[in-house]
Amino acid sequence: MGSVYVAEFDYELFVIGAGSGGVRAGRMAAAKGVRVAIAEDLYLGGTCVNVGCVPKKLYVYASHYAESFHEGEGFGLSAQSVRFDWAVLRDNKKSEIARLNGIYGNLLRNSGCDIVNGRARITGAHSVEVAGKTYTAERILVATGGWPFVPEFPGSEHAISSNEVFDLEQFPKRLIVVGGGYIAVEFAGIFAGLGAQTDLLYRGDMILRGFDNEVREFTAQEIVKKGVNLNLNADIVKIDKLGDGSLVAELTDGRVLEADQILYATGRKPKTQGLGLEEIGVELNKSGAVVVNDNFQSSVPSVYAIGDVIDRVQLTPVALAEGMALVRHLYADGEAKVDYELIPTAVFCQPNIGTVGLSEEQAVERYAKVDIYRSEFRALKHTISGSDERTLMKMIVDRETDRVIGVHMVGAEAGEIIQGIAVALKAGATKAVFDSTIGIHPTAAEEFVTMR
Ligand code: FAD
Ligand code: NDP
Repeated sequence: MGSVYVAEFDYELFVIGAGSGGVRAGRMAAAKGVRVAIAEDLYLGGTCVNVGCVPKKLYVYASHYAESFHEGEGFGLSAQSVRFDWAVLRDNKKSEIARLNGIYGNLLRNSGCDIVNGRARITGAHSVEVAGKTYTAERILVATGGWPFVPEFPGSEHAISSNEVFDLEQFPKRLIVVGGGYIAVEFAGIFAGLGAQTDLLYRGDMILRGFDNEVREFTAQEIVKKGVNLNLNADIVKIDKLGDGSLVAELTDGRVLEADQILYATGRKPKTQGLGLEEIGVELNKSGAVVVNDNFQSSVPSVYAIGDVIDRVQLTPVALAEGMALVRHLYADGEAKVDYELIPTAVFCQPNIGTVGLSEEQAVERYAKVDIYRSEFRALKHTISGSDERTLMKMIVDRETDRVIGVHMVGAEAGEIIQGIAVALKAGATKAVFDSTIGIHPTAAEEFVTMR
């Protein structure tokens, strides 16, 4: 359902970036008969598939196994010699990602998208150049994602980002992780779990800013129990590289730490540099994100943007939702609106954090009276596993309407559990609905229907 001018252009939709958002939008549009091309310069599937969610979760599983070997002893299972081989994990991960790259290529081709290999640059409101060839399009969709940001300071060139951490030649026996967000906390957990001496350095008072305060404190205690050396109010001022390849980090408090690798997980910036956006008049905000309206349309009407490059919520399911909404809007007379309320999310540290809705602090600010229900316990498994891991569950209720407005969990499979709870919250469940739901026994999740 393109405009009447479509015949003038090579394509009706030219997507830049074959990541979560771009692939979904491209495939859906092509399936509706729209003539679509998608340009990609690094890897099909984008960040999530290649250097994000998928390989990260595989590494989280690996570090869980390491823990499970010890826990098994309490259940009578003993492994004589547990050995970890980084190369096996890394190379099996590589094969799986290569398989996924192939699947993404097939999905795109089978839906009718033309794949254009190379770095794309916008040269006009309706034209894109890739590898010296110009393509014209009725509409251009920018889905170029983000890129890790490493601050500049003496020796910062010795630091790595999440892009490099997956494929290190050698397993770092000593690792420093800088940052206190999702990536820092997840990777500190992964490497500590796999046996690295791991220091997590965060510049502020408490990691995971933006999460419920009690969840942050509880998680900090739990990751310390799992072997992460947590350094709060700490930052690096300088890194030196020694002759044997070791890195020496000088901290703000004067301390010196030595490591084999230093991972900076200090956020990601929208990938808009050199894309030609400003040259054609597309408005970018201070962090370089494309400014879009409710229909994902930029200040140049033929240019749209979705996903991390608009810097709303940097999560794969959000990029997918934005891609689908845009295609509905452009090619099916539907609404472009994405509901950003009650987006559930998980941090895959050990144990996981799962969360949906408001933190206690946000709830207290927005509602006249809130009731807090909480439960903290040692999971049944750990009564004999020997692990001192504890679980925290927390529910926040608006007293006036009885609606549940926030649910948080730190514990095994919190991500899996909170996904289900998010459906209940989207449906407007009240505390009374939770209370009238029969539990599944014995599970940790049943606590959410027995909290009084
Ligand atoms: P991307 O997936 O980044 O895709 C953009 C694509 O555009 C890339 O393939 C890039 O190569 C390409 N590109 C850029 N510029 C050009 C150009 N000029 N020409 C051609 N191609 C170009 N989210 C979750 O929901 N759950 C998780 O567990 C999770 N874990 C993560 C772990 C890590 C380590 C990281 C870094 C991110 C994680 N995320 C997670 C976030 C998630 O990966 C992103 O939100 C998601 O990938 C955004 O999708 P996107 O389509 O906007 O961009
Ligand atoms: P985040 O924005 O989550 O965290 C960045 C961290 O770095 C914050 O703790 C921030 O501190 C700190 N920081 C920022 N600048 C500096 C600096 N100059 N010096 C020292 N510390 C600094 O980014 P991430 O890189 O962890 O991840 C990017 C995004 O990717 C996430 O926000 C998330 O949306 C997505 N993601 C999702 C995952 C999931 O769903 N499980 C997993 C991984 C990533 P401060 O808080 O003080 O600003």
